[in-house]
Amino acid sequence: MTDTATDLLTWAGILEIIRNGNPLPPRRDERSPADWREVLTPDQFYVTRQHGTERAFSSAMCAVFEPGRYACACCGTELFDAQSKFDSGSGWPSFTQAIAPGLIAYTLDTSHGMQRVETTCNVCDAHLGHVFPDGPAPSGLRYCMNALALKKLA
Ligand SMILES: [Zn+2]
Repeated sequence: MTDTATDLLTWAGILEIIRNGNPLPPRRDERSPADWREVLTPDQFYVTRQHGTERAFSSAMCAVFEPGRYACACCGTELFDAQSKFDSGSGWPSFTQAIAPGLIAYTLDTSHGMQRVETTCNVCDAHLGHVFPDGPAPSGLRYCMNALALKKLA
């Protein structure tokens, strides 16, 4: 359920996507794990292709609030704008909303004895992090992202 006036995605909308399936991506990048290993650092590969999590407070990106966009570290698809970035205090870069619907895919993640919603790049399936319903208004969402999964564009 998205707000048709603003296209703002809310937690209810994410739960509906999980029930009904993810939106179509704008394009697909289906490189093999071997291909990704060639272009990513070992840490980036671990986080994005093996569903890893970087240590909290391990990246300077948490404290970056300059204007610009954040792209998928793997395929370069622009996912977030700095305008939606906020300081969550969690130790991971946090955003309230993606640039557009269809860029991020949502999957129920029951690993580690928790029920969480995993977020992946809808273009190349890179693991980005998780999204939680405890973010600030107006979306109420907190996209808790691994800095290693993103690259800041000027
Ligand atoms: Zn991607």
